[in-house]
Amino acid sequence: MKIAVVGTGYVGLVTGACLAEIGTDVTCIDIDEKKIENLKKGILPIYEPGLEAIVKRNFEKGRLHFSTSTKEGIKDADVAFIAVGTPPGEDGSADLQYVLSVAKEIGKHMNSYGVIVTKSTVPVGTSLKVMEAISAALLQRDLNLTFDVASNPEFLKEGAAVNDFLKPDRIVVGVSSDKAKAIMQKLYSPFVMNGHPIIFMDIPSAEMTKYAANAMLATKISFMNDIANLCEIIGADVNLVRKGIGSDPRIGNKFIYPGAGYGGSCFPKDVKALIRTAKTANYNMEVLQAVENVNDRQKEVLFTKIKQHFGTIDGLKIALWGLSFKPNTDDMREAPSLILISRLLASNARVCAYDPVAMEEARHTLGDSIDYVSTAMDALENADALVVITEWPEFRLPNFDIVKQKLKQAVIFDGRNIYNHHELKTMGFAYYGIGIK
Ligand code: NAD
Repeated sequence: MKIAVVGTGYVGLVTGACLAEIGTDVTCIDIDEKKIENLKKGILPIYEPGLEAIVKRNFEKGRLHFSTSTKEGIKDADVAFIAVGTPPGEDGSADLQYVLSVAKEIGKHMNSYGVIVTKSTVPVGTSLKVMEAISAALLQRDLNLTFDVASNPEFLKEGAAVNDFLKPDRIVVGVSSDKAKAIMQKLYSPFVMNGHPIIFMDIPSAEMTKYAANAMLATKISFMNDIANLCEIIGADVNLVRKGIGSDPRIGNKFIYPGAGYGGSCFPKDVKALIRTAKTANYNMEVLQAVENVNDRQKEVLFTKIKQHFGTIDGLKIALWGLSFKPNTDDMREAPSLILISRLLASNARVCAYDPVAMEEARHTLGDSIDYVSTAMDALENADALVVITEWPEFRLPNFDIVKQKLKQAVIFDGRNIYNHHELKTMGFAYYGIGIK
């Protein structure tokens, strides 16, 4: 099978590399010339565990190609994936300009039947627009080519993307023809030999499924953050409450960890976009509006705790462990660390940060406004407090004697509840978690 993937970011590169891994011939296309040039040299634009090996292996075997030319990549493709960004527009709705410009390009250059699959997260109705854009471009070429569109939302998690793609819980595909269904079934069957389902449905339902999934996950997080904040006020420990409710299989123990708010390239924008979709349809998503409000408030929680502890922040040095929006990724989009850093800098604190992989990416946004150091312990040197904002594995069990020795004041703000507060208090630390009295 010949595959084209247009957009070579987190989703496109993982999709392309994993499809090449099962033996198909894949061309990953991107308008970013530097990105494509680097990929041809084996330099990856993102950090994602396991991705480099799979990209290099398939590139060397000649199954994975990189190009800036949609024309070249789309030629004879049986399936073309659209995997470009859908950032929020000014009103919160998904900005479809990149998706539709790719659709137009595909229509300009396709030369045989193919299934055009939207993998980007897009609102209901977008596949129809993709179909119209392709048809209009074909009409301009006076070409009477048949094609199908399909919707195949992506559920991979950054930080575990390769594994998620190769061993998905489920694959959702929206189709409107048996021919497209058969092609997608053939392409994806190697990934579901473990018996996990490929769920076929109509296209609008597939488009909606992605938003509903992310909205549900964001809701769990905000709900738990709300419970955590109340626990703190009334004197309960949210860690215990979490265990108490998570053992109920109807609730489950995943995604109920309180913290410093959700970030990343998906939850914030997808929650916004769904609220917007509903507004356009004259419906009010009241739960999701609250989810967003709680999250905005939660991103301020660590700063408030720091302020309450110190009174004045002016002149403090704060050591920050973690920058990326979650562990195992260098993605800084909507990271809670960015809000905390901006509040600290506005209050004349100095921030000294360490992150195992995201410092280079962070520099693009933060420049030299903060200090970067090459080990977690270096960040602590003479700092007035340690703030943990991303729960990277290497932060979980530090030598607290050394931590105490290096800090000027033994104060820890644990934005992810990864430490045992009793232990740290016994050691003489002032400890602040989320949802712990
Ligand atoms: P990204 O920003 O990492 O990558 C998008 C890529 O598309 C960029 O490399 C950009 O240069 C390229 N591009 C833009 N216009 C183009 C064009 N006309 N032709 C060719 N390339 C073009 O984005 P991402 O994180 O991979 O997300 C892509 C989509 O997948 C979004 O809709 C997102 O919501 C969705 N999604 C993302 C994730 C995730 O974890 N990142 C998970 C599931 C779904």
